[in-house]
Amino acid sequence: MSVIGTPPVVALPLRTRFRGITTRELALVEGPGGWGEFCPFVEYDDAEARAWWRCAREAAEGGWPAPVREQVEVNATVPAVDPEHAHRIVTASGARTAKVKVAEKGQDARHDLARLEAVRDALGPAGRVRVDANGGWDVDGAVAAIRALDRAAGGLEYVEQPCASVEELAAVRRRVDVPVAADESIRRAEDPLRVARAGAADVAVLKVAPLGGVRASLRVAERIGLPCVVSSAVESSVGLAAGLALAGALPELPHACGLGTADLLAADVVADPLHPVDGVLPVLRRPPAPDPALLARHAADPDRRAWWTDRLRRVQGLADPADSVVPPTPDVRSTPP
Ligand SMILES: [Mg+2]
Repeated sequence: MSVIGTPPVVALPLRTRFRGITTRELALVEGPGGWGEFCPFVEYDDAEARAWWRCAREAAEGGWPAPVREQVEVNATVPAVDPEHAHRIVTASGARTAKVKVAEKGQDARHDLARLEAVRDALGPAGRVRVDANGGWDVDGAVAAIRALDRAAGGLEYVEQPCASVEELAAVRRRVDVPVAADESIRRAEDPLRVARAGAADVAVLKVAPLGGVRASLRVAERIGLPCVVSSAVESSVGLAAGLALAGALPELPHACGLGTADLLAADVVADPLHPVDGVLPVLRRPPAPDPALLARHAADPDRRAWWTDRLRRVQGLADPADSVVPPTPDVRSTPP
C-alpha cells in the first residue's frame, strides 16, 4: 500500500507540555482496512520513521490479529506538573494506576517527591504508582532517587527507564528492590531484545508505532520473555486504537497500560475519542475513522502539511527489508544444514 495524493495532517494541541511539545502533529492514511496514523516525532530521521510507517500501513490494510480480551485497564499519566495539578489529573482520571514523570529538566528531587506524595494521596493506599525518568539519571542518582521516591509513594510498582543505557539499567536493577521497566532501550534500540539478555529489566514497555505495528510488537513480546506494558506515543485516537489492538492481543497483560493518553490532548480527530472511563478502554477491531470536520478544524499549516507529505513519501520509498525490527534468532534452528 502506498499513499497517493495529500494525506490529512493535523496539529493537535496538548493540555500540558509533554516531552517538550505543546502540539502533536501527525498524518493519517486511509487504506482498504480503514485508517492508520503516521506520527514519528518531528526530530526523528527517515530511517527511524520507517517502523512508524509500517504500523500505519498495517492498520490501514486491516492487518490486526484477533484480540483475546475486550477491554484494557489503563493508567493515568501525570506530566511534570505541580502537586495540586497532579492530584487533579489522577482524581479526574478514575484510574487505579498512575504513571508519574520524574527527573524533568529544570526540576529537582523535591518536585518529584511532592508530586509523588500528591499522586499517592489521590489514588489511596490500594492504587499503584509507577515513575518514568526517561533516562534522566545516572546510576548513583537513580539508586538514590528510586529509594526516596519509593518511600514517598508508599511503594512503587516499577521505575521506567531510570537511565539511558542498557548497561546502566542493569546496574541500577542490581542495586534497588523496585522493578525496572525498559522503554527507550526497547523502542529506540537496534536490538529490542538486548535488555532481556543483559538482565536490565523486569518489565518491557512496548510502543506499537516505533516497533513497526501490532504483529511486529507481538513478536517482540513473544521473544523478550518479560511481562509487557503497552504504552502510547501520544497518538490521536486513530493511533491509540493500534496500541489497544496490541494490548488486546497479548497473551498476558499483568499491568495497566499507558494508553489513556487521549486525555493529554485538548483535541482529537475522531468524534468519540478514546478517553478512558473508570480507568478502562475498549479494544477495537479496526481503527476509528476520523471526522472530516475535525480534520478541517485542526488541519496543520500548509507548510507543515507539505513537510509531512514529503516525509511520508520519502519514508515509504525506503527499502523495507523486513516487517519486524526483531533481528533473526542466531540459534541452531535457523542455521541451514
Ligand atoms: Mg517511557
